[in-house]
Amino acid sequence: MNILLIGPQGSGKGTQADLLVKKFGFYYFEMGSFLRELAKTNPLISEYQNKKGKLVPDDVFFFAMKELLSEKIKEGNKLLLDGFPRSVRQYESLRNWFDELGINIDKAIFINIPEEITMKRLSARRTCKKCGKIWNLVTSPIPPTPEKCDCGGELVQREDDKPEKIMLRLQEYRKNTEPLLELFKKEGILAEVDGNRPIDEIATDIQQIVEKIKNDQN
Ligand code: AMP
Repeated sequence: MNILLIGPQGSGKGTQADLLVKKFGFYYFEMGSFLRELAKTNPLISEYQNKKGKLVPDDVFFFAMKELLSEKIKEGNKLLLDGFPRSVRQYESLRNWFDELGINIDKAIFINIPEEITMKRLSARRTCKKCGKIWNLVTSPIPPTPEKCDCGGELVQREDDKPEKIMLRLQEYRKNTEPLLELFKKEGILAEVDGNRPIDEIATDIQQIVEKIKNDQN
């Protein structure tokens, strides 16, 4: 079973993905952090992520992504893809590749939130420099202080979570990712959940969707 998690920045995909991994044992691939890792040795990626707030060109990462995912598929993992695909072109490339491998995309789960919630959540997101834990200053659990993690490390804001960069990322989302939703609907793989609710309510809905796919496949 392979699932795509779609939604604007700050829709809680990472939180829901953690819960899905615990319950169903997916291999979780998150494109944003995969690219932040690659950016350590490739300044072009960092330029797209931090200055332009635009999608990194496909040819920069596609090979590395396929290499990693091929390995995981060979090991027999079910995939949970977050942040990829983000455009119709990326989806078509993924589909062609999956067709070659003889595997399916079973569902695209779309966590929907209004843009003002994206702005509010992302501008309040902080990461611990020491342990890497991600906090949000406006949603519980909040850190001991806005500057300090519970491990004592310093909390910092991601460069692309600054307000002007969030606007750029949202524009990209509207331009590239929203058209994908129409396509998923046409192909009958779209499942939409309201992301502007408590975490456990969203989790219940998403887990029911995955449970149903599992039962249908057995
Ligand atoms: P995220 O952490 O998911 O918001 O992604 C941060 C940044 O990584 C985005 O603003 C893009 O520059 C880049 N990025 C993430 N996913 C993709 C993708 N599927 N294709 C191209 N660039 C991406």
